[in-house]
Amino acid sequence: MTHIYRVAKVDKSKCVGCKRCERRCPTGAIKVKPAGDCKYVAPCQNTCPAGINVPGYVALAGKGDYEGAYRLIRRDNPFPSVCGRVCTHPCESACNRGGYDDSVAIRDVKRFVADKAYDGKFVKEPVWPKNGKRVAIIGAGPSGLTCGYYLALTGYEVDVFESESTAGGVLLFGIPEYRLPKEVLARDIKAIEEAGVKIHLNTKVGEDVKFEDLTRDYDAVYIATGTQFCKTAGVIGEDKAGVYHGLDFLKEISHGNAPKIGKNVVVVGGGNTAIDVSRTAVRMGAENVTIVYRRREGDMPAERREVIEALEEGVQLQTLVSPVEIVGDGKVEKIKCSRMKIGEPDERGRLSTHAIEGSEFELEADTVIMAVSQYADFPFIDKDEVELTEFGKLVLDEERMTTLPGVFAGGDVSRGSATAIEAIADGKQAAININNYLKAPTGINQGAEIELPPREEFGWSNALVSRMHNLPREERIKNNKEVALGLTEEQVKTESQRCYRCVGKATVDESICYDCGMCWEYCDQGAITMEPLPEGRTLQYPLPDTMERAEEILAICRKAHLLPMQIICKCGPTNTEEIVNAILDGARDMTDLTLKSGTRAGCTMYCVGQISRLFEACGRPLESREDDNYHPITQTLWDFSDEALDFDPIFKMREMQTTLYSDEVFNAAADAYRKVVKERSEKKNG
Ligand SMILES: Cc1cc2nc3c(=O)[nH]c(=O)nc-3n(C[C@H](O)[C@H](O)[C@H](O)COP(=O)(O)OP(=O)(O)OC[C@H]3O[C@@H](n4cnc5c(N)ncnc54)[C@H](O)[C@@H]3O)c2cc1C
Ligand code: SF4
Ligand code: SF4
Repeated sequence: MTHIYRVAKVDKSKCVGCKRCERRCPTGAIKVKPAGDCKYVAPCQNTCPAGINVPGYVALAGKGDYEGAYRLIRRDNPFPSVCGRVCTHPCESACNRGGYDDSVAIRDVKRFVADKAYDGKFVKEPVWPKNGKRVAIIGAGPSGLTCGYYLALTGYEVDVFESESTAGGVLLFGIPEYRLPKEVLARDIKAIEEAGVKIHLNTKVGEDVKFEDLTRDYDAVYIATGTQFCKTAGVIGEDKAGVYHGLDFLKEISHGNAPKIGKNVVVVGGGNTAIDVSRTAVRMGAENVTIVYRRREGDMPAERREVIEALEEGVQLQTLVSPVEIVGDGKVEKIKCSRMKIGEPDERGRLSTHAIEGSEFELEADTVIMAVSQYADFPFIDKDEVELTEFGKLVLDEERMTTLPGVFAGGDVSRGSATAIEAIADGKQAAININNYLKAPTGINQGAEIELPPREEFGWSNALVSRMHNLPREERIKNNKEVALGLTEEQVKTESQRCYRCVGKATVDESICYDCGMCWEYCDQGAITMEPLPEGRTLQYPLPDTMERAEEILAICRKAHLLPMQIICKCGPTNTEEIVNAILDGARDMTDLTLKSGTRAGCTMYCVGQISRLFEACGRPLESREDDNYHPITQTLWDFSDEALDFDPIFKMREMQTTLYSDEVFNAAADAYRKVVKERSEKKNG
């Protein structure tokens, strides 16, 4: 008999849809469902600038359908191999699994999928028939190529003009090979070309082709020229020999003209560029590489993993330090710096820094690399024709069109130095906007629809996050080989099972909520409260009142080594006869039994083990439901090995087993039980 005094209530503003409650609820009263009227989007997908269906491809990867996963990613991002390596993965910061232990390793799964799906061949998407319209794209970086890819799939003739001799933009000439091998980038780009995008290399708009020719000859133009011009730091002596600027330095190396560096290299900055140049300097043989950064280590915009790897490789980090002057006779000899202290936050919320008076000191340096950011410029544009802001940025409308009709812009050129995935997202959005501008009868073609495996097919893993191995430090600092080695297939399966496949918010069916409080106990977000029921409810499965049924129950109890009126579920509380009677009347599994009798069957391993034994003794052994972990068939007193029973002198387990369930005790309990049923039967029959 179960008394229900409270039911679970969900605070939807706190619920993240992780399903921990649903997995624990013994009656199925709490279910995570799409929230409200709108279609719920998992937080990972919602946070991804390109809106990639993360739960979908993680699920496909878990099933070993790598091609399906790859094609699903490419519906929103044609750079899976690149983003599987260098994406800043905002999705992982939003991942609900992070509230439990660590976020799903989404980016690493993407890398595995892209590498597996490629395997020497290109997966092609159906290209729609040509629609007779032409689009010119300036810049073959991730933004321009993404825009070109979706437009080409949709039937546009796409020409991309690129000033460099190879396509890829900063992905090619900025990000070093040990993070993004050139052949990996080339693979994603080749797949884009396979869709019909024509890339014209060594063609600088403004020099080799006039901008006016493009606006005249094409139906639309997309400017995706990025931020190619290095900012100066405004430090005295920045023009001395031996001073380089981050992106220029990396670009020269990528072109095969590595600048000469000395033994002592000082890098100024705290972003990805600063980390990339310092790790590159280590690989070029510098003996001391020191990053000076004006804020604290935790404030560095560079990705944490990159910072850790740089430190592992011997890069030194001096935080709260800012350069004052580069000292030397014509060429760098030292860099004078001052120590900084943190002040009040500025209007963007970033803490201001102030030099500490009299704190100046010098660092030995024969090379200084300024890695302080880049900016965009438009030497190819007539500034009277296209409006710029006072900061030199293109003025864009809501559809990201410039003031010149039909000319759109996106990626770093409009955002300022940002990230690859934002550039890709802008490229896809530009394709949509251009398609709308040209009054296309349909939306853009993103590739074939991919069928997703049903959610029910997945188990759930409480394993810790899978980490990739790196090349050993000694090996990697000698060359440009890719440092991160990728996940194994087994790890990808684990990550797939770690994903909750978030679908919405929890809702409670109060009529079958039995006040067990499991959801309240397991909710990491504090989204559940147990609220009093004004009247309360009592639930009891009808008790047996015939002697035949009593004997049947006794036979099962004897088989299961339990006593007939023993309380099995202590939270319920429900005794053996009620449970067995419900099973004999058709309860098929634990949930069914809970709904019939009110037994909570889940919060302790003791009741679960005993109830499992009763099912077994009734000839209906339970099949463990793979996606639930609240009622695994666990060990009970009866199942312990001889050694285990002897081991514990305090609880005297062997003694308990032999005395509590001896024939003598059982027969006495059986007689008492027969008496109870007889009285019950007589009472019923008047
Ligand atoms: C060192 C460094 C490391 C980075 N690391 C990361 C990272 O780990 N993760 C991440 O997400 N982001 C990273 N970024 C940022 C990321 O690379 C950029 O945000 C992204 O490449 C921007 O893409 P885009 O297409 O807008 O521009 P770009 O990649 O800059 O491409 C623009 C292209 O336009 C071409 N072009 C310019 N002018 C003309 C012209 N007149 N005619 C023809 N072609 C022209 C350029 O040659 C270039 O190929 C990093 C940036 C740097 C500098
Ligand atoms: S109520 Fe809590 S446990 Fe249940 S889905 Fe929401 S956050 Fe997860
Ligand atoms: S658990 Fe899975 S679906 Fe939920 S946010 Fe993380 S990756 Fe996305």
